[in-house]
Amino acid sequence: MGRKQGGRYQRLRRLEDGTAQKYCAGPLHRLANGDGKYHIGGTWVDVAEFRMQKSGRMEGRLRAWCKACESYQALGRQAMNVPRSLVAFAVEELVRRLGIMETARRLFKSQQWIYQFRNQRIASVRYDTAVDIVQLLAEVRAKDEVRSRRSIRRGSHMRGEDESPPAHVRDYYRPQGDLDNERERQSRKRTGR
Ligand SMILES: [Zn+2]
Repeated sequence: MGRKQGGRYQRLRRLEDGTAQKYCAGPLHRLANGDGKYHIGGTWVDVAEFRMQKSGRMEGRLRAWCKACESYQALGRQAMNVPRSLVAFAVEELVRRLGIMETARRLFKSQQWIYQFRNQRIASVRYDTAVDIVQLLAEVRAKDEVRSRRSIRRGSHMRGEDESPPAHVRDYYRPQGDLDNERERQSRKRTGR
C-alpha cells in the first residue's frame, strides 16, 4: 500500500529538523489553543502522537485526532458537567457528617463554594468534582465517620483536641438547625405527637 496524500484529515507539516506534525483539533488541543474557552481551532502535534486508521476508507492514514484527544473523548466525561441535583444528597450528607469546614477542606473547595452549592446558587459541577464528592462520601460512609456537633462547632480538630464521638442523634451536626427544628415542630403538630 502506497503512501496516501493529503485530504482534510491529513493536514501535515514538516519541520526544519525533519519531524512531521499534524494538525489536531480534538478536545484537548482545541482548548490548548486559547484562553481556556472552548472554541474552534487546534494545535500542531507530533505525528507520533497519532494512531493509524486500521480499516475503512481512511485505512493507513493517521486518525483525525491525536491519542490524547481520543482517550479524552472516550472517557468523555471530564468535559461534562453534572447537574447539581445528582450530587446534592452527597454534599448534604457530607456536611452533616463532617461539618462545612471539613467538607470543604476534603473536597478542595472553599467554604463559600459549599454555601453556594447548598443554596442552589451552583447549577452544575464539573465531572471531576462530582467524582470527588461521591468518592469522599463512599470513604466517609465506609469508615462511618460522623463528627459530634459540639466538636464541629468548637473546631476541636483545628485546635488539635480529641473529638467527642456522637452518642445520640442530638449530637449530630445540623447546619440549618433552626429550619430543621421548625420543620419538626410542624410535623409534630400535624401528627399530634
Ligand atoms: Zn489532540
